[in-house]
Amino acid sequence: MHSRRRYVSLGLAAVVLMLGLTATAGVSAALASKERRSAAQEMDRQVDLAQAAVAGEVRRYLDTVDTLAVALASHDVLTPEAFERITARVPGENLPGATAVVFVVPADGRAAAEPGAVAAVQDAWRAAGANGLTLRPASGVAEHFFAVYGRQLDGRPPAPAGADLAEVPAIADVLRQARGLGGAAISDAALLPDDPDRPSAGRRRALNLATPVLGAGGRLRGFVLLGLRGQDFFGGAIGEVLHPRVTATLAANREGGGLLPVATAHPIAPPSDALRRTRYLDIAHRRWRLDVAADPRELPGASSDRPLVAAAAGALPSVLLAALVYLLSSRRAKAMALVEEATRDLRAAGREARDRAALQRAILASVSEGVTVVGEDGRVLLHNPAARQLLGTAEDAEHLEDWPAHYGAYRPDRVTPFPADELPMVRALRGVPVDRAEMVILNPAHPDGILVSVSARPLDRSGGGPRGAVAVLHDITELRRHETELAQFAAVVAHDLKSPLTAVHGFAAVAAEALADAPPRPETAGFAVERIRQGATRMRAIIDDLLAYTTARDAPLHLAEVDLRPLVDAVVAERTAPRPAAHLSRAVPDGAPPVPSVRIGPLPVVCADPNLLRLVVDNLVGNAIKYTPVGRPPQVEITASTGGGGVRLEVADRGIGIPDEEKGRVFDSFYRASPVDYGGTGLGLAICRRIMERHGGSIAVEDNPGGGTRFSVLLPREPADAARPDGGWRRLQRPAETRAITHAMARSAPGVEP
Ligand code: ADP
Repeated sequence: MHSRRRYVSLGLAAVVLMLGLTATAGVSAALASKERRSAAQEMDRQVDLAQAAVAGEVRRYLDTVDTLAVALASHDVLTPEAFERITARVPGENLPGATAVVFVVPADGRAAAEPGAVAAVQDAWRAAGANGLTLRPASGVAEHFFAVYGRQLDGRPPAPAGADLAEVPAIADVLRQARGLGGAAISDAALLPDDPDRPSAGRRRALNLATPVLGAGGRLRGFVLLGLRGQDFFGGAIGEVLHPRVTATLAANREGGGLLPVATAHPIAPPSDALRRTRYLDIAHRRWRLDVAADPRELPGASSDRPLVAAAAGALPSVLLAALVYLLSSRRAKAMALVEEATRDLRAAGREARDRAALQRAILASVSEGVTVVGEDGRVLLHNPAARQLLGTAEDAEHLEDWPAHYGAYRPDRVTPFPADELPMVRALRGVPVDRAEMVILNPAHPDGILVSVSARPLDRSGGGPRGAVAVLHDITELRRHETELAQFAAVVAHDLKSPLTAVHGFAAVAAEALADAPPRPETAGFAVERIRQGATRMRAIIDDLLAYTTARDAPLHLAEVDLRPLVDAVVAERTAPRPAAHLSRAVPDGAPPVPSVRIGPLPVVCADPNLLRLVVDNLVGNAIKYTPVGRPPQVEITASTGGGGVRLEVADRGIGIPDEEKGRVFDSFYRASPVDYGGTGLGLAICRRIMERHGGSIAVEDNPGGGTRFSVLLPREPADAARPDGGWRRLQRPAETRAITHAMARSAPGVEP
């Protein structure tokens, strides 16, 4: 993880560095390219300058010779003095490289004219003042060009007068050219004739300018010849205008063909990547070549270290920036990692807290116990769903003192409002733990009231939570009912079982005495034994009812299709079977009881637990026969109808009826509305109600129009076991036990009176 972040930081820094260097390289390249362009421009400019300088200087020199020619021509007789005077200003003309200015006169050199022509010339000029002039004609030339007057300009000894310059082809050529042009001309380049000792490569190059000196009518009187040393000429002409780091070589046509470099300004060896320019100059009918070269890095204004500086200036910050980015990003990455870690921890903590809260909520929502938490000020902080259901209202009471009225809290007597300052919650807030305080909640949600056991404690503040109190509410209505039933059961056992047991005990003594008497009294013994048997039967009936009640409450349903008709027939047959008179009620004084009349209507097939359903029918038919006024034959009608989501089975009689005020209670366990003369345990209808509830159905009682009672049982089309999944059934899971109970129920006999 760490190394990954490090790589990310390094990557980021590398990107920054790359970008920086790329940008720097770009800038540097752009600068270099710009500089190359500037260098090229500068080179062009340098070449232009050189060209202009050469042309300008050549022009100035030519003008000088032209002026001289005009000045010389202005003298009809050109005396040496005149020449001296006229040329005296030439040295002051600043003509670098100018070696000499010479007045040259031509003479016909053809054989036919010789020697008279040369002599004539010599004579003429001697006459003009050139004393001692001796012309030394060169041989083999068609035309002679004699130097008549001359002025050295470079401090050297003056050129000898009378020399025939026709010997120097370049000079003869330029003179002829000047004559042909009628104006100034420039010669080819030649190695200086006065420098014969130097090696060829080191000999100086010479150029000559010539212009004709014309007399009246355009007659050629001679030439003004200006000798130039190429190197000096260009040293002055272009050396000054060119940048010292720019080298330029001027090549002129060489006599005899080709080009001869005449001068090199700033002779430096240019590098291989030097900028080079070649320019051809057409000057005075000659084509010269100017070669200029320069190291672009040394060109003025074009050469700079800017690209390098830019590169350095760009690269350095790039490196610094990359380093900074690396530092920052690695720090940031570290910070991010810390934040991530913290966030992860926080999330995990949050998730854990949420999970815990959700778990607590789930627990609170799932528990059947009501949990209520109040703050220090008595305000409700929490009611779980069970608490709301128990308290029967969604609205919370504002203050604890309002609780009794708000929730309808009473003492267990169901009448006395629970005193507010004795509320478990109030006492817990005072620091007093309360265990299993009982109160009745009686309000619109619980119109019959429920009995609630409340335990309360001050909130445990060891974890730093708020002050307050927590109460756990437990609905003990059912529990109390069972306890009551248990108490009633005990009473029944104590009373109902004790009663026949007493009879059994007493009659056993009677029988014993009757048999022990001499003579024995068999009738008395027989009577007593019969009463013993009746007592035992009574006890068995009570025990059977108790077992049946337990079974009806807890045994699992075994639903099956049950044809009601055979079931009802079997019950009726058993209930109406003739019995010995002694087995019947004490209320029947003598003789056989009246035979019950039972009418059975069409009965459908239903879905139910057959054994339990038989128990219901047996109880209802048994009661219908039993609760008939003494001496009257019981009249029972059993019918069924379909509708309302199920089957309604009705058992109606013409018996003693049930007063309206007792109709609601006859289904309670152990409740007996009728005089004890009729016998019974008060469990039969409770068993019926329980069984019907287990089937998801119901049982009701009403008066039978015309007298008697009508019980109706509603059996849903698709019954479902409405029993609690747990409860007492667990205690009866053993099949043998279940079978025994079922068997006992099936054998439950009609109530008999001891
Ligand atoms: P018991 O064992 O006393 O018959 P039940 O639970 O079967 O107990 O009946 C409860 C009471 O309801 C009876 O004591 C009786 O007063 C009354 N009762 C039940 N069935 C009838 C009926 N068909 N006619 C009149 N009263 C009845």
